[in-house]
Amino acid sequence: MGPAPARRRPPLLGVEDLKGPHRAGPGETSYGVWSEAIRRGLLTGLAGLLLAGCVSLTPAQEQSVAEIEAFADRTARLYSLPLIPVLISHNPRSPAGSYRRGFFSVNALTLTSSFRDAIVAHELAHYVLGHDAPLRGPALEGYEREQQERELQANAKAVEILTRAGGLDEERALKTVYLYLLGVHWALERYPRLDLAGHKPPCEEIADLLGRFPQQRGWAAALECAPAQWRTSGG
Ligand SMILES: [Zn+2]
Repeated sequence: MGPAPARRRPPLLGVEDLKGPHRAGPGETSYGVWSEAIRRGLLTGLAGLLLAGCVSLTPAQEQSVAEIEAFADRTARLYSLPLIPVLISHNPRSPAGSYRRGFFSVNALTLTSSFRDAIVAHELAHYVLGHDAPLRGPALEGYEREQQERELQANAKAVEILTRAGGLDEERALKTVYLYLLGVHWALERYPRLDLAGHKPPCEEIADLLGRFPQQRGWAAALECAPAQWRTSGG
């Protein structure tokens, strides 16, 4: 699970926060509430996300960040977990979203994307499921399979989070995650060398996800990448 709960929610950390040019009042840094260990972990985790220069968010992006924070707070409370901060990456090549022990990050491009809620719910699902625990696979192959299994679990948990913390009904929540995975599927068709970063091919993830919600089969059976057995068994 994440770090011990901070007394006060830390401020949103963007790239500019880490450089800290406009904060840092006397005796206080922008990390005020972070322990040294957490700070070090954050900096390590962020090494790949940083771009040189000071980047600020547009009002629409700021609004989106506030919504993501509120959603993350609701999720943490519903699952009785410490609040988890979100970091915004300004590197267009960093992933749409990612989860590390103690925080999750979303790409600035994700903030105004129609896939935002699916991406955020998926990363929060990794948090809820405790996926910062080390993988136990004995060999590389087992390790890979376990990672892929975690991604499948996170997709399904994202649907639950979208219903519980996002107030969607199950059908809309499932469609939200489905549409995102379908977008990845189409992207993979266009760019076959796309790095799947520990995921199974998106079409397989979709089949797995939909298969976990047999009660939604009525409308979902006809979808691209729906479980093969749904389409062949006269449903
Ligand atoms: Zn994931």
